[in-house]
Amino acid sequence: MIKFSLYLILFFVTFSNVLGQDAKNLKDQNTDIFSTLNDGPYVFIENDELIEKRIIKGEIHEKTLAKNAYDTLFTPDMVIFKNVKKIAALSDIHGQYDLAMEMFQRNKIIDENLNWNFGEGHLVIVGDVFDRGDKVTELLWFIFKLEQQAMKAGGRVHFLLGNHEYMILHSDVRYIHKKYRMTSRLFNFEYDELYNNNTILGRWLRSKSTVIKINNNVFVHAGVSHEFLSQTDFEFEKINNVMRSSIDLSKEEMKSTDFYSIYYGSESLIWYRGYFYDNLLEEEVSNILKQLNSDHIVVGHCSNEEVVQLYDNKIFGVDSSMKLGKYGEILFIKKNKYYRKTLSGKRKQL
Ligand code: CA
Repeated sequence: MIKFSLYLILFFVTFSNVLGQDAKNLKDQNTDIFSTLNDGPYVFIENDELIEKRIIKGEIHEKTLAKNAYDTLFTPDMVIFKNVKKIAALSDIHGQYDLAMEMFQRNKIIDENLNWNFGEGHLVIVGDVFDRGDKVTELLWFIFKLEQQAMKAGGRVHFLLGNHEYMILHSDVRYIHKKYRMTSRLFNFEYDELYNNNTILGRWLRSKSTVIKINNNVFVHAGVSHEFLSQTDFEFEKINNVMRSSIDLSKEEMKSTDFYSIYYGSESLIWYRGYFYDNLLEEEVSNILKQLNSDHIVVGHCSNEEVVQLYDNKIFGVDSSMKLGKYGEILFIKKNKYYRKTLSGKRKQL
């Protein structure tokens, strides 16, 4: 009996030591994790004031900005462009800021100081900048800046919303990097609140398009399906407005009618995968193109190792798996010719 009690005491002593040690480790780890956390800026519009918040080494730094530091109203972009001399397109960057910068630089979209270098060209980011990677904030501000520089040079940056942008804007944060869980814990906000309608980036995102047309090319994150065309009265501006105004509808509101299945279902502009997986007949693709009054559709969403063409150059897939952070390509269009441009800046005709 005595022996047993001794064992019992020994067990508790050991067990509580382990517990104490664990708690200490966890605390150290936490301090450690937060102390390396840098993120932001996030700019909030509060009672007519612009409040900038940054996280530097795990601490929140807050300051009030001049009223004109940022626009607070963003008008939706145009959605149809003609006579554009050169176009570059890529998608699904998913927070891989460093890889994106390398690609843009090597392909002369930006210069060594990360400034616009594509003249009157149009750069199309075909959705899914959010989620997975840990440099989403950096990417968003980069695109935000580049858009203004491009405009001044007579060019354009088009940031089209993909399913992951819509997921974040609808509070679906399943795919955010753990860094952003810490950011939102530190701010004591849900992650999606950092992009609500009272933030600069949130308002900016709400002005973005989902589907646009440049010359004879349609650009959209996932694709335009036959099903989608049959259920909607497809007109570029109108569809974009419908998508835009759906951002601040709740899922319940959208699901109370067939709205959700049409605009957010598996045949929608932001989720469709049919070009890659449904073995469509070439005729079916031609039919879709005819209804869009276009010759080509450029999509992301389905990952490949490089920029690919399908259905005799009718469809181009520009998700070149940048999300893995290792490699990526850009689709380049000039004089109605289509090229893949590699990470090292080599040009290969498609
Ligand atoms: Ca996607």
